[in-house]
Amino acid sequence: MGGRTAPPERHDPMTNEIAEPPAMREGGCPYCERTVLVYEEPPRCPLCACPLDEQTVKPFVFPEDRVPEGD
Ligand SMILES: [Zn+2]
Repeated sequence: MGGRTAPPERHDPMTNEIAEPPAMREGGCPYCERTVLVYEEPPRCPLCACPLDEQTVKPFVFPEDRVPEGD
């Protein structure tokens, strides 16, 4: 007995890939002529399903900077 060698370790670079949900963005739909929320890739209007111009799509940020009214 003896002389055993450790089995080769497998290195799968894709193993640690985590499927993150796409970030919410907002873009202008040329068809609906309104700002819509986009959560698909490539960006697509959730209302009319038409592709959006990626140049008009920007990350959607919640208006957290706004101070809630009322005092
Ligand atoms: Zn649309």
